[in-house]
Amino acid sequence: MTKTVYYLSPSSFCFGVKRSIDQLNDIIKQHQGENIVCVHALVHNPKVTKEFEQKGIVFVESIQEITNPNTIVIFSAHGTKRSLIKKAQATYKKVYNLECPFVSKIYTEVDNFLQQWIHSFVYIGKESHQEGQNVIEHIRENWGDVVVIQQEQEISILPFTHHDTFAVISQTTLNFEKVTNTLKNIQQIYPWAHIPWFSDVCRATYERQTVILKHIHFFDALIVIWGKESNNTKELYNLWITNNKTTWFGESLEDILAYGEQTILQYDRIAITWWASTPVEDIRAVFDYYKSKNYEPKILTLQ
Ligand code: SF4
Repeated sequence: MTKTVYYLSPSSFCFGVKRSIDQLNDIIKQHQGENIVCVHALVHNPKVTKEFEQKGIVFVESIQEITNPNTIVIFSAHGTKRSLIKKAQATYKKVYNLECPFVSKIYTEVDNFLQQWIHSFVYIGKESHQEGQNVIEHIRENWGDVVVIQQEQEISILPFTHHDTFAVISQTTLNFEKVTNTLKNIQQIYPWAHIPWFSDVCRATYERQTVILKHIHFFDALIVIWGKESNNTKELYNLWITNNKTTWFGESLEDILAYGEQTILQYDRIAITWWASTPVEDIRAVFDYYKSKNYEPKILTLQ
């Protein structure tokens, strides 16, 4: 049997990640020689962070760590609560908010609901993730109440009656199918809830999950190349595990080789996917490895 390594398309940098990286590169050119500090990793990939550090960018977790008012402050692709952006604008030389437009859309939705006097929210997502944490704090700072749930089973903990009005929003990088089902169930139980026509899960997330599910019967094992902090790569990993398939994951070829060659070469049909914040060189290294082991490369797409 021919051994095959499948390339799942789309993969790699999504629109939002690419946009943030391009913007930061432009800012570096524009502010040569100036002190540039990024609050949180621009995108969740340590290699990208390291490359920007080599270009002189300093990364911090809180603006309290920035003591020089003459600093150019960058906010990451994951989104930042508006009060923090305003505070930075009042304190530092210049502020750039490089958040993905799909995340900005969530802040717009929240603000629209608040303007309509809807102050109760359900957030489907992870409070521990940078994106969720900032959206949740933004709601609370604007006199909103928010209940955080991560899965459908938690609908039962919602503190609402059938007639209550509240709005539901979700994190951009969750499992599309699960979020859609959760929204449908909330709508059935709470007819007065404001449920979006489409979840806030972004197109990049949807497409990367869909291409895996579409071709799931083709492969014996999946390799996910990811940044450990990246929520969307965790979702891809979980998707495969839920379908009882073998999955290996890591940030680079070295991490994959650490499973042992006997393990990672045991199957004839291997698929490789990677997430929105994975640099292309890391993916190429894994492909080249399989090609060197006589695996024939093939592309599988959404079509
Ligand atoms: S995964 Fe989606 S929300 Fe996140 S940066 Fe990419 S396009 Fe934007």
